[in-house]
Amino acid sequence: MTFAELGLIDPLLRTLESLEYRTPTPVQKEAIPAVLKGRDVLAAAQTGTGKTAGFALPLLHRLTMEGAQVASNSVRALVLVPTRELAEQVHQSIQQYAQNLPLRSYAVYGGVSINPQMMKLRKGIDLLVATPGRLLDLYRQNAVKFGQLQALVLDEADRMLDLGFAQELDELFCALPKRRQTLLFSATFSDAVRQMARELLRDPLSIEVSPRNAAAKSVKQWLVTVDKKRKSELFLHLYRDRRWDQVLVFGKTRKGVDELEQTLLAEGIAADSIHGDKPQPSRLRALQRFKAGEVRVLVATDVAARGLDIDDLPLVVNLDLPIVAEDYVHRIGRTGRAGATGEAVSLVCADEVQLLSAIEVLIRQTLRREEEPGFEPDHRVPQTDASGQILKKPKKPKKPKVVGGKAGMGKWLEADEPAEPPIKAVRKVPSFGGKGRRSKP
Ligand code: AMP
Repeated sequence: MTFAELGLIDPLLRTLESLEYRTPTPVQKEAIPAVLKGRDVLAAAQTGTGKTAGFALPLLHRLTMEGAQVASNSVRALVLVPTRELAEQVHQSIQQYAQNLPLRSYAVYGGVSINPQMMKLRKGIDLLVATPGRLLDLYRQNAVKFGQLQALVLDEADRMLDLGFAQELDELFCALPKRRQTLLFSATFSDAVRQMARELLRDPLSIEVSPRNAAAKSVKQWLVTVDKKRKSELFLHLYRDRRWDQVLVFGKTRKGVDELEQTLLAEGIAADSIHGDKPQPSRLRALQRFKAGEVRVLVATDVAARGLDIDDLPLVVNLDLPIVAEDYVHRIGRTGRAGATGEAVSLVCADEVQLLSAIEVLIRQTLRREEEPGFEPDHRVPQTDASGQILKKPKKPKKPKVVGGKAGMGKWLEADEPAEPPIKAVRKVPSFGGKGRRSKP
């Protein structure tokens, strides 16, 4: 199948040719005809599947072919995204796709001055990409009006709820015209996301291009067990020993991210970081330097986990496991994209066994374990599996014991035989289904 067969207009086909997009991806094959027909869409699609073009191409087609010219301070199509980085990235893709079209697009997000955004909106924008908080600010100040709005896209809906945007979203939905096309994209489907879909979508076409909550198959995943205090040291060792090239590393806290960055810089490794304490320009600069290959190791909190499109990233490392299991899927989604193979390595300490178990249950896969010689943990990580079981660690017998009777006549207890029966893991990890804002990553 070709893009021409999907019915897109010539200027878009020319652009796609110049971008060397030869065939539509599965999500594009399904979404493009449906969106062109004006249908609502509910799509379970991970980043890396080509979902941005899946919604942007048919919307740009419709904005070009239908509807009145955009009035001042008005918006004809709106794409809501959870983070500033994603807003920039989605807008960059849209600018590329719209290069031969007479349309105006723009992105607004917080953390930067609002005045230039207000100025830019005065002329009216055909397709606006926005984070919910800043858009609401602009709306309250009458800098943006929704009377002309034809289409709404919720990109990474699950992440928007995770980040506590439920209230802002509700307020925005009330301000939008009821007659409109709505497209909802989410990598995972919690009850809160399903509820939002029920309220917003009318007879949607459901698209599912990858198994729900399953990580991309093209990513080779494994873990190394290690003591908590030796994680940075182990990362440095593996980076050198395995001759890792370009790595995106995820840490749990801003402090941990800064510490690893400093350790790497002190060792002469080109590193940079992205987290919520850094001003927006320096976050964007770090990402650009990483994309350009000037930085070999980019250390980030989950703020960078979603949606960032980095070409051919071979490796993602979890310095810490994420608190919310779904974030694991998003983190490792940075590699193995658009058909490439990738690798995801997690450094796991004993404290993280519950998080590990929740991840394995979610992805329905038991992660392969390794121990790195010289880094074997003193605090062993109990064995886990995809059914959610956690086997309590076996107590190492000091010397072989004889069970049942005289020495030499009974059964030897194997060192790796479980000392106690398996216990059920606590499967539930905190879920933030739209209740309150989570502390910023
Ligand atoms: P996305 O899932 O929207 O973030 O897209 C992932 C990557 O795939 C981006 O780098 C796109 O430029 C690229 N891409 C999207 N659609 C196609 C296609 N049909 N052919 C080739 N590359 C594509």
